[in-house]
Amino acid sequence: MPRSVPGSSTAGQPGPRRDPVPAVLPVPSPGTTGASLLLNATFEPLCVVSSRRAIVLVLADKAVAVDSTADVVHAETVSLPVPVVVRLTRYVRVPYPSSVPLSRRAVFTRDGQTCVYCGGSATSIDHVVPRSRGGTHTWDNVVAACRRCNHTKADRSLAELGWSLPQAPRTPTGAAWRLLGHRTVDPRWREWLGMPESVSA
Ligand SMILES: [Zn+2]
Repeated sequence: MPRSVPGSSTAGQPGPRRDPVPAVLPVPSPGTTGASLLLNATFEPLCVVSSRRAIVLVLADKAVAVDSTADVVHAETVSLPVPVVVRLTRYVRVPYPSSVPLSRRAVFTRDGQTCVYCGGSATSIDHVVPRSRGGTHTWDNVVAACRRCNHTKADRSLAELGWSLPQAPRTPTGAAWRLLGHRTVDPRWREWLGMPESVSA
């Protein structure tokens, strides 16, 4: 049975834990986010962590890299590619929040960054039933809209304008949403999150 790894602290010898990861990581390549998707031992997505955190987990043998970037980080004794997806070596039980926080970015992501009324590029959030008429700031009353449609609609209802929605706005669900309601998605995470290959950007 191995005693201890050189450089690691041992029981009875408390002291500052040595961090083998350099303070400065390589600048992320274009298309990467500087973050890693953390999977449970069962491959279930858990959360998004910084690349630095992912490297610490890999170096501590608490996780293994599942997918990596072309960037290489040089730690104390080893060099390794910066991971974009890592999997825990031991299963952890994690309670999930029951609903996705409503945020501007989350609404944009749900609605594919497009205006629900005209299909143009979304730049604003619209309350389907205007707030001035008692509309709530909830997932089922908030949609992504372009500025022009938002301006045109103003305080009117869809019926008054003769407009309609392609589908009723809903609260997003599923693992991907629990994790990424308001984050940029690295394309290499998608297969693990059960997301379509390309949600229009
Ligand atoms: Zn529009």
